[in-house]
Amino acid sequence: MEKDALELTKKLISCPSITPEEKGCNRVLIEALGHSFTTRLINRGSTTNLWATSGHGTPFFLFAGHVDVVPPGENGWIFPPFEPTIKDGKLYGRGTQDMKTSVACFTVAATRFVSEHPECGTIGMLITSDEEGDGKDGTVFAVEQLSKEGMKPDCCIVGEPSCNSVLGDTIKNGRRGSLNGFLIVKGIQGHVAYPDKVVNPIHKVVPFLDDLVNTEWDDGTEAFPPTSFQISNIHAGTRAVNVVPGECKITFNFRFNTLHNHKQLEKFVEALCKKHHLKYQLRWQESANPFKTEGTKLSEALLAAIEKTCGITPKFSTSGGTSDARFISKWCPDVIEFGPTNQAIHKVNECIDVKQISLLVSVYYETLKNIFKKAK
Ligand SMILES: [Zn+2]
Repeated sequence: MEKDALELTKKLISCPSITPEEKGCNRVLIEALGHSFTTRLINRGSTTNLWATSGHGTPFFLFAGHVDVVPPGENGWIFPPFEPTIKDGKLYGRGTQDMKTSVACFTVAATRFVSEHPECGTIGMLITSDEEGDGKDGTVFAVEQLSKEGMKPDCCIVGEPSCNSVLGDTIKNGRRGSLNGFLIVKGIQGHVAYPDKVVNPIHKVVPFLDDLVNTEWDDGTEAFPPTSFQISNIHAGTRAVNVVPGECKITFNFRFNTLHNHKQLEKFVEALCKKHHLKYQLRWQESANPFKTEGTKLSEALLAAIEKTCGITPKFSTSGGTSDARFISKWCPDVIEFGPTNQAIHKVNECIDVKQISLLVSVYYETLKNIFKKAK
């Protein structure tokens, strides 16, 4: 089983699937799934979504993941990023941690489980190719289609790299919400020497941003850190030193816990714009809702599987950026992220300890055993 998973990981790494391309990953996966899974593609634009199921009825267990990767970057790779290479117990290649290894591991675990336990429910796999991109045509679209068809999994593991230093140390059981704002504050352009003839949008923006930056949103919850606000970009100016610019553009982001929601944060910012008498345009991009999975059948099954396989008790965490679990959580509330360690994700020389591969297959396999045993 370990050898199969290592071989499958290497085959996936060899496909240069820079987001949103899959570059042959789906063919590799369909071949690995064999006859016990029915597969089809749910594509939109240049994104492919592979949907595979085996069996029928409940429980309905879903594995979800992505085969697209971020670009390798220019320099510094010891080995070519799309030529999987093992050195000193580590497998190098773009996507080894994020997240082709877990896709390979749950594919191997699921096919083995299905061949040993036929007729005990449904196992599904949803693999997208645009998780690292804008995420419009991937999981969000596939989930929309599948729910229209009446598909509804009972629980789902997203194989994102969730662990910190060793396999099994962390389960991600929730994520903060994310909200982006794009603000343009208008002024009146003119010569710096004639302040009575201009309205300087930068001067308008400074006290407004000071207010925003110094707002305490909440104290956090037991599961989530306090809501935070960050400015990611400010731009104004004509490049001439003697011109007051006509506008100032600001991009900002909220990471918020379950004490807040999009609408309420949007209202707050808009009220603040009015308080500071800004002339403005404001566009919002609602990127994710917060979610939290706790004390569920899946969290218990996974916890037991990790304790048995890795000999450690994982901690539950809601830290980190967003993932496709945010789209799955509305469809299948019992969703959790578990995968390998994540210290090298998106970096040059991304690599994974080869030892983690066999352990990860076992964790997924044992989780399936726990879920399907409990259902009987
Ligand atoms: Zn990922």
